[in-house]
Amino acid sequence: MNKTVYVDNNATTRVADEVVEEMLPYFKELYGNPSSMHTFGGQLHKRMEHARERVADLIGADPSEIVFTSCGTESDNAAIRGVLESYPKKRHIVTTRVEHPAVLSLCRHLALHGYELTEIGVDSEGLFDLEELRAAIRDDTAIVSVMHANNETGVIFPVEGAARITKEKGAIFHTDAVQAVGKLPMDMSKSNIDLLALSGHKLHAPKGVGALYIRRGVKFQPLIMGGHHEHGKRAGTENIPYIIGLGKACELAKEYIKEEQDRVKSLRDKLEENLLTNIPNARLNGHKTLRLPNTTNISFEYIEGEGILLLLSEGGICASSGSACTSGSLEPSHVLRAMGVPFTAAHGSVRFSLSRYNTEEEVDYIARSIPPIMKKLKDISPYAKEIEELEQKAASTANRG
Ligand code: PLP
Repeated sequence: MNKTVYVDNNATTRVADEVVEEMLPYFKELYGNPSSMHTFGGQLHKRMEHARERVADLIGADPSEIVFTSCGTESDNAAIRGVLESYPKKRHIVTTRVEHPAVLSLCRHLALHGYELTEIGVDSEGLFDLEELRAAIRDDTAIVSVMHANNETGVIFPVEGAARITKEKGAIFHTDAVQAVGKLPMDMSKSNIDLLALSGHKLHAPKGVGALYIRRGVKFQPLIMGGHHEHGKRAGTENIPYIIGLGKACELAKEYIKEEQDRVKSLRDKLEENLLTNIPNARLNGHKTLRLPNTTNISFEYIEGEGILLLLSEGGICASSGSACTSGSLEPSHVLRAMGVPFTAAHGSVRFSLSRYNTEEEVDYIARSIPPIMKKLKDISPYAKEIEELEQKAASTANRG
């Protein structure tokens, strides 16, 4: 196959053609400022509000509850800091050990600057215990921040249960839904979630645009101060072309969500089954079913993940060995470590994350490419003996079966 096979969609996605089309006029013809008094700029206000309606519609929110931001990281930071500033007497934060750095680094930073932090752990399948969460929330807990779906494993957290418990205990609930929006149906009108972060580039809009859902009535102080944009919740002239793109991407996501759940999931399942069946040292990281339909994270025990990625890349296949933010370091992923994945397996983990643009032909090509890569890496691995033992074990199980 002499084209790029892109299965790294949890890192970022291709911008949909329909999104680019809809954005283009906003660079050359409709370049005004939506806050202007004149009609040339003023007409953009209506268009921006239409984009807001589309974003709100995807998550079952009211448009007045959507604030445009520059990315998922900003949305997460604004949510957590915005709540903490609104409740100055409450100095305790609860989160999980497997959050994206957009949440975890901020919480750990705050813990060094006068806040108390409780990080809930996860089990070997990547799930946490709701009762442990309940026990962690105190009278002085200001915010509980729990991600909707994990970027590395795709594991889906019980956010509705967590939000209900948080509400019962009198704290505010935020979810980093950057990986979940557009892949899982959600309805804020029937939810106890107070704040939810999303990001354009994970759902076929460009990088550099995001949104924060803030439930009506939730106390919130803006992270970025300045003019009166976004009803005083986020200052800065709105990035109109990207906001238009995000609106269109949300509309498309609503249309494609069923396909993500069916066609994309069946491609993911085919790839996963093939690898787990045919590669003796392969094991799945994360819960078998409570997982995003597009994500599979597989460890190839005793093999270096970076080696696999390099050889995959030579064949035009783009996958990832963890979150893009942590790659470049030889430290195994904090998510896999929190799940207790042994060192020898965590180092050899590869994440394949699919999208609506992947095909069956591509999945078959990946499945065909892995065995020769494994053979090559096994031959130079200091653990060749251990891999051979796994191969023999698999062969004798197959013979018995
Ligand atoms: N949260 C999660 C779960 C993510 O996967 C990412 C990006 O990888 C982010 C937050 C940050 O989003 P952005 O890249 O838009 O800042």
